[in-house]
Amino acid sequence: MSLRPEEISSVIKEQIKGYSARLEVSQTGTVIQVGDGIARVFGLANVMAGELLEFVEAGVFGMALNLEEDNVGVVLMGNDEGIKEGDLVRLTGRVVEVPAGDAMIGRVVNALGEPIDNKGPINTSKSRPMERVAPGVIAREEVNVPVQTGIKAIDSMVPIGRGQRELIIGDRQTGKTAICIDTIINQKGQDMLCVYVAIGQKASTVARVVSKLEETGALDYTTIVVANASESAPLQFMAPYTGVAIAEEWLETGKDVLIVYDDLSKHAVAYRAMSLLLKRPPGREAYPGDVFYLHSRLLERACRVNKDNGGGSITALPIIETQASDVAAYIPTNVISITDGQIFLESDMFNAGVRPAVNPGLSVSRVGGAAQTKAMKKISGPIRVELAQYRELQAFAQFGSDLDKDTLERLNHGTRIVEILKQAQYKPMAMEEQVIILFAVTRKFLADVAIEDIADFEKTLLEYFHTQRKDVVDAIRTQKDLTKEIEQDLINAIEDFKRITALKTESEEVAAQE
Ligand code: ATP
Ligand code: MG
Repeated sequence: MSLRPEEISSVIKEQIKGYSARLEVSQTGTVIQVGDGIARVFGLANVMAGELLEFVEAGVFGMALNLEEDNVGVVLMGNDEGIKEGDLVRLTGRVVEVPAGDAMIGRVVNALGEPIDNKGPINTSKSRPMERVAPGVIAREEVNVPVQTGIKAIDSMVPIGRGQRELIIGDRQTGKTAICIDTIINQKGQDMLCVYVAIGQKASTVARVVSKLEETGALDYTTIVVANASESAPLQFMAPYTGVAIAEEWLETGKDVLIVYDDLSKHAVAYRAMSLLLKRPPGREAYPGDVFYLHSRLLERACRVNKDNGGGSITALPIIETQASDVAAYIPTNVISITDGQIFLESDMFNAGVRPAVNPGLSVSRVGGAAQTKAMKKISGPIRVELAQYRELQAFAQFGSDLDKDTLERLNHGTRIVEILKQAQYKPMAMEEQVIILFAVTRKFLADVAIEDIADFEKTLLEYFHTQRKDVVDAIRTQKDLTKEIEQDLINAIEDFKRITALKTESEEVAAQE
């Protein structure tokens, strides 16, 4: 980067003007170039990497990212239109900070933590650096408390623990956001605070999420950080760090926090744009070489710390959008390797009506099993295997050959599991309800229920339990285990229910005939 003559002359003039105040000169610089949300500044000899800089005339702040020999590359955290060549830039001596604390709950803020929800200023005296080194190994503890997502397919097959990082990955429009929003909605009364970070999305999509969270009462324990697609790349780049900084404030006071990054593909794209404008060398797929570090230092900040460090946790649900299910592209492979498992959503399944479209073969949770409740663990064990067998048989059965009784039975059973794992959006289910219905299907109580009646069966069975066998529901909820007694109670209750409904349909048929 070389200076043009007119820039040199203006810099020299400035230097001469400020000659008497030599100390000032080292603390301030002048803008030599500005555009695309990036400014080049001359003369900031003492600047720190990541330092907050003030553009005095325009009243805009920036963050120093590239420290070069004769200038500093600064990303602007606001509009660059008011900034002119020769403007004064002042060092602040601080790294970029965001407001934090309980006053953030229920608020919608921008990437700098400033409110954008017309609910007035945020009254908090606390602030935190946006970037922080993640807690070390010694401060951490094993993940052993579950995050109840309320989604049957996830809680049973890919359980998530508090402090875990579980990637949600899939093509566009496969229900990625839906899973995270349902999980947030399900945290009501679960002693969990939530942060939803929207990166590079349409304003209308985010507005829908905000109103849904408000409507379901989930905003009472949620903070939303927004950097829309229309905002500058630096702001989109900062949004997830702002979100996790807000979460860390709660982590340190021993709280459990859930953070959703929707989505990190767009975050990587914003970082690429920013890096190219800063003239950093492009690497694979034109991403800068440190894009892996970008996401790893973000996701490492999700953790569960031990009692000495407050005992809180941050659970991260990063989202990655793939192109044509290509999980082997650069950004997806990076994030898969940083996280503790992934929930793979498949368009084919989604379009075939299997929603949520969780692919049971490719989805894994590497640490969540330790956090699953005993009751769920006992029931869900066979589900994955039976589903996998079902898929294999299904492919085979398509050739239409004669099927033996055993194969037919397995196919029937598999179809019923698939049917039971379907779940509508915004309808998260409590753990005890999931246990009841999954118990019914794995113990083959649904073998004689027609496929089209399964959704109805599920609904009426749960109603029956809530009205007639509250004792069983309560026992599962409090003991979180499937003891011999509870198991027997479940069997009896389901058999009773089936007898009653059979009688009812019989009498209805008789009535219809008369
Ligand atoms: P994008 O790639 O655009 O961000 P996405 O993968 O986040 O999409 P969603 O926006 O969550 O997907 O969902 C896509 C559509 O599918 C939405 O209209 C949503 O209402 C619907 N949908 C999601 N989950 C379910 C479900 N379990 N049952 C029925 N409809 C669903
Ligand atoms: Mg989405």
